[in-house]
Amino acid sequence: MSSSSPLADRLKNVRERIAQAAHKAHRDPAEIMLVAVTKNAAPEQVREILSLGVTDLGESRVPNLIQRAGQFQEFLTRRAGVGGAASSALTPPHKIRWHMMGHLQRNKVKPLLPMVSIIHSLDSLRLAEEIEAHSAKLERRIPVLLQINAAEESQKFGVAVGAAIHLAEQIDTMPKLQLYGVMTMGPLNQPPAVVQAVFARVREIFEEMRWHKIGGSSLRHLSMGMSDDFELAIAEGATMVRVGSALFGGAGLDHDQEASA
Ligand SMILES: *Cc1c(COP(=O)(O)O)cnc(C)c1O
Repeated sequence: MSSSSPLADRLKNVRERIAQAAHKAHRDPAEIMLVAVTKNAAPEQVREILSLGVTDLGESRVPNLIQRAGQFQEFLTRRAGVGGAASSALTPPHKIRWHMMGHLQRNKVKPLLPMVSIIHSLDSLRLAEEIEAHSAKLERRIPVLLQINAAEESQKFGVAVGAAIHLAEQIDTMPKLQLYGVMTMGPLNQPPAVVQAVFARVREIFEEMRWHKIGGSSLRHLSMGMSDDFELAIAEGATMVRVGSALFGGAGLDHDQEASA
């Protein structure tokens, strides 16, 4: 794969920014997972990023995640098969890990669960109970992150800072849920110092959960940082960054519209 395509260049740039931010914070870049948020990506861009080796993909709407999960796993499996046994031994078929990161309605949980690897947007007890009930039938534990609303401005979703620890304790008692950590969205249109303070606050809550041993050894992920603020999030300990527009370009390619057109 040549490195001259626009997407390959942007991926290289994002990886360099992640590495620089990690070094600045005296962290190992390898402990930071890049999740490519494909909600505004064209199908050919999704195929290309898979070909470039990024297999953690994020969507913010359930129908889109389900549709794309089917579509692109097939592509990846086919691609891995091309070239016969020799080459597929060198490049074993990868599985896409789909990350659900938008507001999740309870009536969408059931169809989502078979397709999703991790849910970033768990923000209420009722939603946790819904996931628990449906995973019981699936015979697997579902990794979840507790979404915290630390910006407390116009954001609608996420548990309030003051209620986060208690909700985490409740989730921790549910046998089919595996609490991997916390997620937050930085405030929009705020100076870097304000954004970083929000990430720092979420990190404190995360540390407090670990101190109380909530989630046990699974609790090790801080999902924070998007295209415009992931360096600040990495400075505050992010282990997952969710990057869309810095990889795929700006708006205008929304496949919601594509799908309903
Ligand atoms: C869209 C989205 C992202 C990616 O945002 P960009 O600014 O495009 O990088 C990350 N997280 C969530 C929850 C999103 O909805």
